[in-house]
Amino acid sequence: MLNIVLFGPPGAGKGTQSEKIIAEFNLFHISTGNILREEVKQQTPLGMAAKAVMDAGKLVSDDIILQMVEKVIQEHKHKVKGFVFDGFPRTIAQADGLMALFQKLGLSLSGVISLTVDEPELINRLLKRAQASGRTDDTEEVIKKRQEVYRNETVPLLQYYQERNLLYNVNGMGTIEEIYQNIRNILQKL
Ligand code: AMP
Repeated sequence: MLNIVLFGPPGAGKGTQSEKIIAEFNLFHISTGNILREEVKQQTPLGMAAKAVMDAGKLVSDDIILQMVEKVIQEHKHKVKGFVFDGFPRTIAQADGLMALFQKLGLSLSGVISLTVDEPELINRLLKRAQASGRTDDTEEVIKKRQEVYRNETVPLLQYYQERNLLYNVNGMGTIEEIYQNIRNILQKL
């Protein structure tokens, strides 16, 4: 199985690149943000609890996220060639949880692709996306909050994965196609 984490700040292009990866490598996409947005849309108890947290740009609790991810992996693991995690893990507790879950299921993480984009460019992209997406968390204030949460809670994962020799950096500043070619070269070797 090819199990990869696509890592990067909000606006790095994780969603766009995930789509291309899953299409070529035949993998299953797990975007915790997409799952949560669907729960909100369906007005499930989980969605109703998560909405305020998401609209404030904060993180939904690790327990909820890990349960959600476990459920999807359990449902699909026998049918797929691997998983692409997008927007997960976002905290050390989630990364530990993923390792424990993989161990329990006899799976392993193949690598973590980190998309690097500088912050002014990220804010720019997110403000542009805000006009098109209608996402309620794409306002300037919430965008800044999400970058701050990323710096504080999520950036430590870079070292976590570096120490485990799982980290691969990709420049996220080129065209969609250029960036994808660099990701592809890495995935072909994993
Ligand atoms: P995203 O689409 O990945 O930017 O996620 C949108 C929002 O959903 C985030 O700002 C968080 O509020 C929540 N969320 C998504 N994934 C996670 C996660 N792994 N841990 C905690 N909260 C998450």
